[in-house]
Amino acid sequence: MKLIFLGPQGSGKGTQAKIIASKFGLEHISTGDLLRNSEGELKKEVEEYMNSGKLVPDELMIRILNEKLSSLGDKGFILDGFPRNLAQAKELDKITKIDKIIEIDISNEEAVDRIVNRLSCSQCGTVFNLKTNPPKSEDFCDFCNSPLIKRTDDNEEAIKKRLEIYHSETKELTSHYPTIKINGEQPIEKVSEEIIKILSE
Ligand code: AMP
Repeated sequence: MKLIFLGPQGSGKGTQAKIIASKFGLEHISTGDLLRNSEGELKKEVEEYMNSGKLVPDELMIRILNEKLSSLGDKGFILDGFPRNLAQAKELDKITKIDKIIEIDISNEEAVDRIVNRLSCSQCGTVFNLKTNPPKSEDFCDFCNSPLIKRTDDNEEAIKKRLEIYHSETKELTSHYPTIKINGEQPIEKVSEEIIKILSE
């Protein structure tokens, strides 16, 4: 199964991708994580874009994604954070055929509110939200006890820029692909349930 999860920042698509990937034995590919975990020259190259909330250049992103997909063989996957615009979608269409595209929809106000309250684990990457999915302690991860951190691009300026790009470039992918829309303003378990139902049909 090859899936794309679309949704604005804070919609919970990363959290859902993790849950669904583990349930269906899929690879969870977060392009944001691929970039955040990059090293050396590549890290230097992408950092400036990321910290200001801009997209890294398509050509670079497509090359990184292509390498990742090639390493998977026949294994199914969930793309989380890719494609971000029509040019990326068209390149992806040349590489592989996607089975289902799921859009997790939340309002802009909710997105900002959630991102401002977001914390992630510096070690295992688990994402918490002080309001909707709080960690047991505000400072440490529930799972590996490592310190929780705020992403450097979860600042007001970058958030504004990222949401602006989502609405001007990424959202239009819902016209390019047949998309199944889910209300992301429901509890995490309810959203997962709906996705599982769709994937089991
Ligand atoms: P995310 O973790 O998906 O919110 O992505 C964090 C940042 O990584 C974005 O703001 C971009 O700078 C970069 N990024 C992630 N995915 C892509 C992509 N498909 N194309 C270009 N830039 C990306």
